[in-house]
Amino acid sequence: MRCIQCGKEVNKPKTVLCSDCTKDKYTCLKGYEEHTLLICPDCGKYKYKKKWNNKSKNAIEESVLHHCSFLVKPLNYNLKINLGIKQGKKQKGEAILKVKSKIENQIVDEEFVLPLKITYAQCDSCAITKTDYFEGILQLRANRDLDKAQDFVLKEVSYRHDVAITKTEKVKNGFDYYFTKQRYIPVIMKKLQERFGASGETHAQLFSRKDGKDIYRVNAIVRLPDFSVGDIVKCNNKILKVVKIGKHATGCDLKTGKSLSFNMKDAEMLDFKVYNVEISKHYPQLEVLHPETYQSVAVANNYVEISKQKKKIKVALIDCKIWALE
Ligand SMILES: [Zn+2]
Ligand SMILES: [Zn+2]
Repeated sequence: MRCIQCGKEVNKPKTVLCSDCTKDKYTCLKGYEEHTLLICPDCGKYKYKKKWNNKSKNAIEESVLHHCSFLVKPLNYNLKINLGIKQGKKQKGEAILKVKSKIENQIVDEEFVLPLKITYAQCDSCAITKTDYFEGILQLRANRDLDKAQDFVLKEVSYRHDVAITKTEKVKNGFDYYFTKQRYIPVIMKKLQERFGASGETHAQLFSRKDGKDIYRVNAIVRLPDFSVGDIVKCNNKILKVVKIGKHATGCDLKTGKSLSFNMKDAEMLDFKVYNVEISKHYPQLEVLHPETYQSVAVANNYVEISKQKKKIKVALIDCKIWALE
């Protein structure tokens, strides 16, 4: 049939307008809200709609699309950003948006040129990091996993737009972090407890008086445990292989093979040697050649069953007893 508007041939059934005429009548884009995108020149965080977001190479595209309101969801789109020369803290440009959409059975291609405005301004955390302001100090101490804990703290803080570390001091076995917000210190302590099984305590310290009010600073010390998952610890006279650490720690009792929960504060790391020894008997219970006396001895965890084909096994010598570790 022919287009009712211009008379051009239309090859699609149930269609009264050709694609050119459809384009005049229909559009997928209802409106575009002009706005200013803020970008922090120091860290790359960007802000529109009152919220700072972490650095992204798609920040401009994201804010353009956020301010478009579509009548019909486009089938696909292509967005090209052309920025002009930066003038002081401001930069202008345009976004060329090409969209393909389906409107009343017609495929419609459209192109829009949308104005762009960018202002470069420091984000809240960069602005405060430039000062030496702090409300509290977190002292992180660890004999192991210090690097992991350090990465964890920095990452957690980077997710927050209301907290910053204005100074970090490396000390023996740890770091001292100067935080801009004292209310954040119990929050990060709890996270360190959940993630690493750390324990800690806080003290408020009278710092000064201002306008007749006492100003306190919070000092907190957090210690990471000396052991981790897979380590063998002694806890309430039991020997445990650590299965999970954190607020609720669990371990496998080497004597019974059963798992139980334990308090990390009561556990101490065991120092022992691991040997790869020969199996001398599989039945009625597992025996191995003692790594020091070379006598055949039963393992202390006698519930352990090992495949008949196996000739050697890893054992630990703890308190004069041989413990199978497999
Ligand atoms: Zn037409
Ligand atoms: Zn910033």
